[in-house]
Amino acid sequence: MAESVSSARLLEPQPAVLSDAERAAIDSVPTGLFLGGAWRETTGRLPVLDPATGQTLCAVSDATPADGLDALAAATAAQADWARTAPRARSDILLRAHRALLADADRLALIMTMEMGKPLPEARGEVAYAAEFFRWFAEEAVRLDGGYLPAPAGGARFLLTKQPVGPSLLITPWNFPMAMGARKIAPALAAGCTCVVKPAEQTPLSMLALAAILAESGVPAGVVNVVTTADPGALMTPLIADSRSRKLSFTGSTAVGKLLLEQCARTVMRTSMELGGNAPLLVFDDADLDTAVDGAFAAKMRNIGQACTAANRILVQRGIAAEFAERLAARMADLPMGRGTEPGVVVGPLIDADAVDKVATLVADARSRGATVLLGGTSADRPGTFYPPTVLTDVPDDAQLCHTEIFGPVAAIGTFDTEDEAVARANDTPYGLVAYVFTENLRRGLRVCEALETGMVGLNQGVVSNPAAPFGGVKESGLGREGGFTGIDEFLELKYIGVQT
Ligand code: NAP
Repeated sequence: MAESVSSARLLEPQPAVLSDAERAAIDSVPTGLFLGGAWRETTGRLPVLDPATGQTLCAVSDATPADGLDALAAATAAQADWARTAPRARSDILLRAHRALLADADRLALIMTMEMGKPLPEARGEVAYAAEFFRWFAEEAVRLDGGYLPAPAGGARFLLTKQPVGPSLLITPWNFPMAMGARKIAPALAAGCTCVVKPAEQTPLSMLALAAILAESGVPAGVVNVVTTADPGALMTPLIADSRSRKLSFTGSTAVGKLLLEQCARTVMRTSMELGGNAPLLVFDDADLDTAVDGAFAAKMRNIGQACTAANRILVQRGIAAEFAERLAARMADLPMGRGTEPGVVVGPLIDADAVDKVATLVADARSRGATVLLGGTSADRPGTFYPPTVLTDVPDDAQLCHTEIFGPVAAIGTFDTEDEAVARANDTPYGLVAYVFTENLRRGLRVCEALETGMVGLNQGVVSNPAAPFGGVKESGLGREGGFTGIDEFLELKYIGVQT
């Protein structure tokens, strides 16, 4: 029998009681829509809550579809001039943004922690990660390549050149509220594209703060526009249907990604899709156990488990499974839990009550199918949307959490006997974003990495995100790659010019 699911204890939304520094940080963020280089306040308001307390931090503008079309008009009007701006000038602006973000990291991290929940050190890490996208793509902006080839039959030359795809729609999720935007805005600007950015409803402040920094760094009016809304479908559907939009870059769930792909098909719009995951983490019996536990901890607990890259299914070779589970449980036990602004907190709140209910339901389902609770497993005994670090062992493959993103601090451990079995089970999912492999045997490591149907693999490491590396998935985890040498290509069209000689 599944144990009954206890909901997060909700607090009635009310104005937040904030410290002076917290209030100053929140008040520093513009609350309007950023359109054509100016801030526009709307009558409709969108409350922004602190997930740790349920209290209202502030309210931002709630864009109407007409506001969205104004944003697209501004991006379209700015496109030609931005595309003509010298790559070195675009690069310099991106570098200024990189430095400005780092210089302002404490304020930005505090804002992010308050609206999203992740502990301050993680928020600072995300600001640095976001800043690095601006530096990386500042460097790529001046390295656009092309080609000059003789036609095989002679008598002609082929010129190959890359041009900006044009005004781009960028839609981002709440779990990395600044970095997911930076990973799109920086290559778009480097390539010479203007954009309309729609951040997640629950975490608009990090993006609005970033927009202000971009403007101060010299991004011209209309090149970056930001619209916040409570009704993303009503706002974005007309923009996707509009022939002025040339590109949609989306990060979010596979379900919404599929819906948007259908909409994009109508105008054959170019897309980049960074979607959901169901990452397997394989630990072979020749692994260094310290490395494997460290890696599993990082892959599980980063962002309180709320990451597309989170280790969703941990599969351990039978002979070491018990010891691995004990050691991971010891590592995840007694972690300070609380509001992410409190010193020393490692486990912040989940994003909302639905997230807590989902995790609790998945844990209850796994228990009902025979999983054993080694750590946690019951809702946190405190108000707010917290869920305690949890370790489950003997998780059977038919447990729902083996097929659904857990998005919480729950390590679900199963066992395997052979390498072939591990690979087959790892690949037995429609998702293919990332996998993790722990083994000291290099031949096995490479063999397994190549056999895994994912866009990324961490071999003896639990974090793969890096602005200099191509991030993205296969199967239902997405289309395209962000970051790395090819990230800028997502915003470029290759043009061939045939020249008679
Ligand atoms: P989500 O519900 O799909 O939302 C993502 C974004 O899409 C939000 O801005 C959302 O706006 C917007 N949206 C929702 N419905 C829309 C519609 N009909 N038209 C246009 N936009 C729409 O995902 P989430 O819950 O925010 O984020 C978690 C998911 O993102 C997980 O599945 C995670 O794996 C995935 N993710 C993937 C990556 C990656 O790189 N592969 C990175 C991070 C997260 P609202 O906020 O207003 O709903």
